[in-house]
Amino acid sequence: MISIALDGPAGAGKSTVAKGVAKELDFIYVDTGALYRTVGLYFLRKGIGTELNCDIEENLKNIDVDLKFVNKEQHVFLNGEDVSGEIRTPEASMMASAVSAKPPVRAFLLEMQRKLARENNVLMDGRDIGTVVLPNATLKFFVTASAEERANRRYKELTEKGMKVEYKEVYDDIVTRDYNDSHREIAPLKPAEDSIIFDTTGLKLDESIEKLTNMIKEKVEL
Ligand code: C5P
Repeated sequence: MISIALDGPAGAGKSTVAKGVAKELDFIYVDTGALYRTVGLYFLRKGIGTELNCDIEENLKNIDVDLKFVNKEQHVFLNGEDVSGEIRTPEASMMASAVSAKPPVRAFLLEMQRKLARENNVLMDGRDIGTVVLPNATLKFFVTASAEERANRRYKELTEKGMKVEYKEVYDDIVTRDYNDSHREIAPLKPAEDSIIFDTTGLKLDESIEKLTNMIKEKVEL
């Protein structure tokens, strides 16, 4: 099986680019952020704040996270309920970032991600795929873009979905999450030593997809 790790900060265009590339290569696109968001949503629904003043391990016993692919499109389930839409709110983003800093949560989601890569050709999108989840991935990319460009893209994406958000809120959210993700003790966001840096600043979506697809085709025997 071929596994391509795509790590990088929030809003670098990873998910949209990766979906396009996965289609080109006929791979499964795995959005691991959705898993952290789903765990975060559980705590959010319980009224627990980002400081997570609770017994996380006890709570994890009540959480079942499942991924299913419908027409190759990923859906995520929390205790049997499809929460693919609900996990996209800014509140769920912040909770995802909070729970993802907790070692029991990372351990809880680890095997599930590895299993997907054992059984499928995957393009796996996350923060620690190349460093922790799939250290032996066939290829590793670190996808990035400037914070302003990432905030612009996320703002557009959310408003197009009809969500009422302020640009400043989106920008601050990205900067805060970058900080949290790269400063946490466990699995911090950083390029794997053997990863290729792919900067999408100034590139249009189709240009990024084409460039990345070509880089993969050059390097991997498909
Ligand atoms: O990629 P996305 O923005 O949906 O991820 C939400 C949050 O989940 C990130 O801010 C990060 O804190 C966390 N995450 C992580 N490890 C991953 C994927 C996401 O810690 N592999």
